Amino acid sequence: MPHDPARTNAALMARRRAALPAGLGQAHEMFVDRAENAEVWDVEGRRLIDFAGGIAVLNTGHRHPAVIEAVKAQLDRATHTCFQVLAYESYVELAERLNAMAPGNFPKKSFFMTTGAEAVENAVKVARAYTKRSAVIAFGGGFHGRTMMGMALTGKVAPYKVGFGPFPAEVYHAKFPCALHGVSVADAMASIEALFKYDVEALRVAAIIIEPVQGEGGFYVAPIEFVQALRALCDQHGILLIADEVQTGAGRTGTWLTCDQWFAQAGVAPDIITMAKSLAGGFPLSAVIGRAEVMDAAAPGGLGGTYAGSPLACAAALAVMDIFDTGGLMERGRVVGERLMNGLREIATRHATIGDVRGLGAMVAVELFKGGDVHQPDADRVKRVVTEAARRGLVLLSCGVYGNVIRILVPLTASDALLDEGLVILSASFDATT
Ligand code: PMP
Repeated sequence: MPHDPARTNAALMARRRAALPAGLGQAHEMFVDRAENAEVWDVEGRRLIDFAGGIAVLNTGHRHPAVIEAVKAQLDRATHTCFQVLAYESYVELAERLNAMAPGNFPKKSFFMTTGAEAVENAVKVARAYTKRSAVIAFGGGFHGRTMMGMALTGKVAPYKVGFGPFPAEVYHAKFPCALHGVSVADAMASIEALFKYDVEALRVAAIIIEPVQGEGGFYVAPIEFVQALRALCDQHGILLIADEVQTGAGRTGTWLTCDQWFAQAGVAPDIITMAKSLAGGFPLSAVIGRAEVMDAAAPGGLGGTYAGSPLACAAALAVMDIFDTGGLMERGRVVGERLMNGLREIATRHATIGDVRGLGAMVAVELFKGGDVHQPDADRVKRVVTEAARRGLVLLSCGVYGNVIRILVPLTASDALLDEGLVILSASFDATT
């Protein structure tokens, strides 16, 4: 269909600026017309390869046929009753399946919200209700959402916290281990012991919340020795361990949950897990999954929300789980990750600015430094590469505490040809920028 010449990205950006607040960021000055698997077409008819996946929401691709079919079928039956008023089976079935999938040799229960931030809020709520303690420890560089508790837990001030405080009290930040930047597992553990010494006694801490791979913070993987040490510390002091898998969950890192790898490698299971994003293949849904006795601690009426666990989103999530169960997508995700890592390593051999190529499964990133010096993060180069790539038809996202990381969250359903096409554009964008 020929595009309307008056409906340009520039015209829509002008309307956007006039009608919407400045605080709503936008990575690319483009408006979408339609999307299919790992490709998007803008309102001017330009095709883009999508390496952003709506920020980790589209592990199963844009408009996966099975997801669309499930939602259409649900649309024809009922769109909303509010689960706490009139329940529906899909919600219960989804909880049963998530409980069965989560690691740990103990009974689990789940409930649903709409956004990642809400899942995090509710994970803290149940942790406090169960432990009857109030403090929470999070990590520097972590991201947990834009609600008040989400911001409090987030360990990155600009732009997430600037001007929005005060935040809920009794949230403390420890160091996240990162060998590249000189923070060892021992340093990170010592920073928690320091909190116990200077800020809060261990017996007042309800939970420690950690992203198995920091997302917004820069795609740093939590080393398994750190996870083991955290679990031991939590057990010693009666603290709950929360894995925030909003970005890492639903197959992104090579397993359904990243903490499946914790369990396989070291027998470590979190007490509570948060999921969102790719769980429902493009529909708004988040989940809190946890140890049954912990999840049962909140009084009836204390949990839930009007739209939480919408029937449309539950139908979509069940379809997503079917796709992973039957479609070989987990294996495909690992292959996608390897292909991307190989492509990025090749680019890195020609561009000294790339100081690190890293990833877990298909959650991969490169970190840029001026002259390759790890003490000089190069956020400007990241911006130039991302802008140049978009000009050439590839959608990328940046991240990192210093904004010097380019991350890839391409649909796992993308073909090899499309991945290669994207990598060629990325490579050319490095060549074309300095
Ligand atoms: N936790 C993590 C680890 C996230 O990556 C995000 C979103 N980037 C959130 C929480 C918040 O999710 P939402 O934007 O859906 O509220």
